[in-house]
Amino acid sequence: MNDDFPIRKTETEWKELLAQKGAEPGAFQVTRHAATERPYTGKYERVWADGSYHCICCGNKLFDSSTKFDAGCGWPSFSLAVPGAIQEIVDTSHGMRRTETVCAQCGAHLGHVFNDGPTDTGLRYCMNSASLDFQPEPK
Ligand SMILES: [Zn+2]
Repeated sequence: MNDDFPIRKTETEWKELLAQKGAEPGAFQVTRHAATERPYTGKYERVWADGSYHCICCGNKLFDSSTKFDAGCGWPSFSLAVPGAIQEIVDTSHGMRRTETVCAQCGAHLGHVFNDGPTDTGLRYCMNSASLDFQPEPK
């Protein structure tokens, strides 16, 4: 299903890689099967440190912490993605028309992007913490 992406692995390989990285237990289901973590459960929802957010699967840089904002929805939210880092896919599941976001390098499911953001970009990237790997800014 993710044959169009530069980085391809089998389900077993992804599982092993995520385990090695110490990813959250739900990371495999979220990134490879588009599951959604429960709101207010993700480890990055309340993180405001300086740094960058990368794809938990392949390390692709997705967001800068300066674009993170509190959307009050229970998931980490961003107003802007790193250019070219994310691919958008129209998602009509669950009787809704939404825009799914996946990692442009490996196809990992990240979350959805909405056009109701409160900042200048008007965008709200609603992400799963389990899809992300935060790298603090070097001091
Ligand atoms: Zn990736």
